[in-house]
Amino acid sequence: MAQLIDGKAVSAQIKEELKEKTAKKKEQGVEISLAVIQVGNDPASSVYVNNKKKACEYIGINSIAYELPEETTEKELIDLVEELNERKDVNGILVQLPLPPHIDEDKIIKTISPKKDVDGFHPQSVGALCIGQPGFVSCTPAGIIELLKRNHIEIEGKECVVIGRSNIVGKPMALLLLRENGTVTVTHSKTKNLKEICRRADILIVAIGKPRFITEEYVKEGAVVIDVGIHRNENNKLCGDVDFESVEPHCSAITPVPGGVGPMTIAMLMNNCVESVD
Ligand code: NAP
Repeated sequence: MAQLIDGKAVSAQIKEELKEKTAKKKEQGVEISLAVIQVGNDPASSVYVNNKKKACEYIGINSIAYELPEETTEKELIDLVEELNERKDVNGILVQLPLPPHIDEDKIIKTISPKKDVDGFHPQSVGALCIGQPGFVSCTPAGIIELLKRNHIEIEGKECVVIGRSNIVGKPMALLLLRENGTVTVTHSKTKNLKEICRRADILIVAIGKPRFITEEYVKEGAVVIDVGIHRNENNKLCGDVDFESVEPHCSAITPVPGGVGPMTIAMLMNNCVESVD
């Protein structure tokens, strides 16, 4: 049986460590504050925003919530972000995505000061990651590296295959694996021979955005499989991009959905908030 990589447990451990660090900073008179902006009331976004607020509260980070109406203009949102960039009492700024279609997400991301870009989406943060300089790193891929390390799964020298090249998961994931000295292949919708490429992987990271797409034919015997996907199946139950039942018997280790990568994203966001005052 494959080792189950428990994201819930690792995330809880990280949150405990961050809680301690935050308490120490408080003793030294340093407060940490995260501004969380939501535009409109998309139910999924509201759930994510609430979870982030709860995590802040648990760790001892002040969260300052901005719940703006759907009709908020791009200019109004830019003005708010610029005001928060200037505020000394705000260390991190998070704009919950997706934004309503009349607001250009890229423009908003670029407006956030790289010093407060706790999501790690600003082009300067991505560029810093690319050339190996310090900066905030996108939370989901950063969480995956932490999951691997804390489960003693070596990356150095390993064949790592990433399925997906999105700006928030696939691309930063590939850069982080490279930073850890993995040998990295990035695949996407135009990749030929996806199965064969995946079967080379010692570590297979799946962020394809298609429920249970990856079956046993994509997986080498003994591989480590990390499932980034989150979907609801026909019975309204959560499932990933990996067909867990078919793949699990062939892996040495695998993340479940739920309870794998998901909980790590918030833990790493909190980590970025704490680092924002270092
Ligand atoms: P995305 O932006 O939709 O990207 C999907 C990627 O998969 C694209 O690069 C696409 O290629 C590639 N792809 C699609 N069909 C393919 C195929 N048949 N063969 C090979 N590659 C294919 O998704 P994302 O934002 O990266 O998210 C991926 C999944 O992770 C989603 O299920 C999402 O819900 C989940 N997610 C989870 C968390 C978490 O905290 N656990 C965070 C973020 C995302 P092209 O570039 O060629 O289109």
